Amino acid sequence: MKELVCIVCPRGCRLQVDEENGYAVTGNSCPRGAEYGRNELKNPTRVLTTTVRVTGGVHCRLPVKTDTAIPKGMLFQAMEAANAVCVEAPVQPGQVIIENLLGTGANLIAGRGIGKGGAFPDTTPPPLRGTSPYTGEACRERHSNSFLAHRPQPVSRPS
Ligand code: SF4
Repeated sequence: MKELVCIVCPRGCRLQVDEENGYAVTGNSCPRGAEYGRNELKNPTRVLTTTVRVTGGVHCRLPVKTDTAIPKGMLFQAMEAANAVCVEAPVQPGQVIIENLLGTGANLIAGRGIGKGGAFPDTTPPPLRGTSPYTGEACRERHSNSFLAHRPQPVSRPS
């Protein structure tokens, strides 16, 4: 018997899954919990959400996610694939960034649109894992510069 917490909705039911009895699920308040409990033991999957680099846009990172869940065991590989991507602005919401991610059948898609900015022409090659020049302070600085470059200018009124 395996115990786990259902993450399908905020209620967080405590499930018991009996592997020796056809993956029978108890403790669930709805059928979705039973399905989650069975899948979690047989073939756990997750939707990947992360960000990728953007060049020539008003922001330097683009939020992305997979359009369907992928095997949980492939999440780190998928993160590596996303980390190697650099997208050219403009980006449309829902635009496919990586098609058929790692052969899973899921597409990595843009979570929002990003307009062309041109404030930060970027010729830097894709970073190695953990060494992105656009993380932490450097990224904050770029965002801050981007904001200053694109904020509305005050309108001067005749006195
Ligand atoms: S079993 Fe149903 S009600 Fe309970 S957490 Fe899962 S989805 Fe929500």
